[in-house]
Amino acid sequence: MAKYSFKCADIGMDCGFETKASTKEELMPLIVNHAKTAHNMNEIPPDVAKKVESAIKKSFF
Ligand SMILES: [Zn+2]
Repeated sequence: MAKYSFKCADIGMDCGFETKASTKEELMPLIVNHAKTAHNMNEIPPDVAKKVESAIKKSFF
């Protein structure tokens, strides 16, 4: 089964947040919610969204 994972540190944040979901569609809201609560981003700017997209890793286990 594929898993998608994201680490805040991978986009250059000094942050230990890490999250996983089985689809990208499930993962994105978790990242957005974290960005809001931990980084005070009410909206994800397009440049950050691109970084997030490219930092998402797909793995199988
Ligand atoms: Zn973070």
